[in-house]
Amino acid sequence: MGKQLSLLEFQAWFPDEESCARLLLERRWPDGFICPKCGDRNAVLLANRAYTYECRGCGRQTSVTAGTMMHRTKLPLTVWFWAAHLMATHSNGMSARQLKGQLGIAYDSAWLLAQKLRRSMVDPNRDPLEGVVEIDQAEMPFRANDDLASPLKTGKILVVGAVEVIDHSTGEPHKPKGYGARYLDTLSGRIRLAAIPSNEAVHLHAFIKANIAPGATLLSDGHASYQGLEGYRHDPRVVGNMAAHIPLKWIHRVFSLLKRWSLGTYHGLRPQHIDAYLNEFVFRYNRRFYRHVSFETVLGLATRHAPASYWDITGQENPRKGTKMSRRTVRRRKTADGMRQDGGGI
Ligand SMILES: [Zn+2]
Repeated sequence: MGKQLSLLEFQAWFPDEESCARLLLERRWPDGFICPKCGDRNAVLLANRAYTYECRGCGRQTSVTAGTMMHRTKLPLTVWFWAAHLMATHSNGMSARQLKGQLGIAYDSAWLLAQKLRRSMVDPNRDPLEGVVEIDQAEMPFRANDDLASPLKTGKILVVGAVEVIDHSTGEPHKPKGYGARYLDTLSGRIRLAAIPSNEAVHLHAFIKANIAPGATLLSDGHASYQGLEGYRHDPRVVGNMAAHIPLKWIHRVFSLLKRWSLGTYHGLRPQHIDAYLNEFVFRYNRRFYRHVSFETVLGLATRHAPASYWDITGQENPRKGTKMSRRTVRRRKTADGMRQDGGGI
């Protein structure tokens, strides 16, 4: 799809539950329905349950939303589709507040919807960064409450980031130069970000090992925590009197974009969901040369994410978990391919 559809055009494509269900059906069973239990192709669409097939062979009932994040939802499928479209096409993403305004749904539903959709936005290209990589840390302001009228004064969260330095002339990762040499005429490549509890060596080294290929050249400031890292070529830029953004310009640009985005779209990050926000930012940044994200990716249809429940997202203990009753429920909620089905609160 080359052209970006407006919300109204998109709504004309998916005007009702049936049109949404038809797409789900096509994605899951491109060659027509097959019973996930017995493999029978002979099934009837039930009249009394929404978009659910009953297998003529074994009697198993299968919903078109099974295995998707929409399963057992109380919201109409159209709301999920339209929300995913808005999240996908707005280059800066959409906050729960904006979704609420656009779709006319309750704030609590919009918030959970946005969190669930955001979970699909994990960078598909998780290959480690390579070549020459700038790395640095920044403090991001966060807000602890939802009161947008109050000033953003609640605290700081430490974020570590890394960006690949691309050679402008080749478009490829830059070849390493001698220690201390300047990298001129470069572009920004892919990035990685993570929130860390402190800038001690243990956290920085773990981030580097998880995100950067061994052997890469690391350009950093003179922070002592980078010392003792094995398997990398460390080329610290002693910042001294020089402004820090000159030797490490790409990572500083990333941090300033992140800061602007978090304030503009989300009115400040909230620490308990920092990983989801950072994932979304990295996902959008690393795909910034594409026109837009597919709404199917955001809906999780492209990669078949296991659906996240309300309890997973809010990090709370599910009070029903562990009881005899809920173990039965959980078992019932297993799909044929082993994924949990859980509409979780919305
Ligand atoms: Zn069957």
